[in-house]
Amino acid sequence: MSSAQKDERGGRSEELFARAIELMPGGVNSPVRAFRGVGGTPRFIRSAKGAEMTDVDGKTYIDYVGSWGPMILGHADEEVLSALRDALAHGTSYGAPTELEVLMAEEIRDAVPSVEMVRMVNSGTEATMSAIRLARGLTGRNKLVKFEGCYHGHGDSLLVKAGSGVATLGLPDSPGVPATLAQNTITVSFNDAEGLERVFDEHEDIAAVIIEPVVGNMGCVPPREGYLESVREITKRRDALLIFDEVMTGFRLARGGAQELYKVMPDITTMGKIIGGGLPVGAYGASRDIMNHIAPAGNIYQAGTLSGNPLAMMAGLTTLRRLRDKSIYERLERAGERLCNGLTGAAREAGFETVTNRVGSMWTSFFTGEPVTDWTSAARSNRELYGKFFHAMLEEGVYLAPSQFEAAFISTAHTDELLDRTIEAGRKAFRKVAG
Ligand SMILES: *Cc1c(COP(=O)(O)O)cnc(C)c1O
Repeated sequence: MSSAQKDERGGRSEELFARAIELMPGGVNSPVRAFRGVGGTPRFIRSAKGAEMTDVDGKTYIDYVGSWGPMILGHADEEVLSALRDALAHGTSYGAPTELEVLMAEEIRDAVPSVEMVRMVNSGTEATMSAIRLARGLTGRNKLVKFEGCYHGHGDSLLVKAGSGVATLGLPDSPGVPATLAQNTITVSFNDAEGLERVFDEHEDIAAVIIEPVVGNMGCVPPREGYLESVREITKRRDALLIFDEVMTGFRLARGGAQELYKVMPDITTMGKIIGGGLPVGAYGASRDIMNHIAPAGNIYQAGTLSGNPLAMMAGLTTLRRLRDKSIYERLERAGERLCNGLTGAAREAGFETVTNRVGSMWTSFFTGEPVTDWTSAARSNRELYGKFFHAMLEEGVYLAPSQFEAAFISTAHTDELLDRTIEAGRKAFRKVAG
């Protein structure tokens, strides 16, 4: 870490982090929060409201992490808070069915084109692990195909060439994943339909292909025109199931997720993040035929003490109902365009080559001059420059993801005024990095 990237501010965050390091691995409960990809000390957050977060030293930031995706309405949305207060008064967990779960399932079914039935779980990781068990159970096959740089949570079968924190830390595939399991995961390059075809030529026994239809976890990488259609066609012809991991893209790119936007239907969909409205939630869904194989309707087992928790359902349902207003997605698109055009211009003025990938309100500016279409091209980005830019932005009061390989998110609470302040901060930050 260069001294420029070291934290000069000190303060309460430094003090808390020193204590945290003694108590939690790396001082955090999830790796990317630790600023390892950019150096320095993570800010400890005291509160958040709308598009802004305030740290324990009282400094306020315009936030583009949005809790890594869920906060599409901004932080502490009044309607979500008030619904939560109502729910709280009725008790926090029963371990028995509730009306809220029915309403939530109806909301998801009505929104997500390929989903007829859904099972709620507590995180995105749980959703993808369960979806894979379902695919294996249904097909009686073991192998799984995933794409380099895609992240599907930390399940054993999925921690192979994974994106997000694994990529940020430059970790090889994780110790603790049995080789016998890892062998069942085949990886292929994103946006390479021929590569996927070859995998099917070389392997039998493939149960499913799991994909982020728009990748967020190596930074934002959209599918090439026609690519998702090819993936759909190949999986269908080869008789393997297609899983869209829409934990990030669900209700983010469109109400019905990437499958609505690109009009390509997977067999199984996993969700999380936005559908919890800021509380811990995941879900997986599919056709009635497929889902009825899950216990107790069928014999593929999956369960959860707190699954469908009433507080989580209330926060999620309130959020999803707000997102029925499709004009929200048009506004987010315009906000994304305004911000990314502004930041790209600011980079150019300061003499930097950056490539900005964006789909709606999800985007990444890569420090590279070449198009970013897969993990190989994403990995060519200059991470040291990103680290410097990140810290310069933080200094200017803008909180970006502490890693080049993460997507940034815009919420409905990001007003034009805040976006323009971000662009102005970007101008100063790029100039500072240019030296
Ligand atoms: C965040 C994410 C996950 C994991 O969700 P958790 O709630 O962190 O377990 C899985 N898949 C994708 C695409 C994600 O973005």
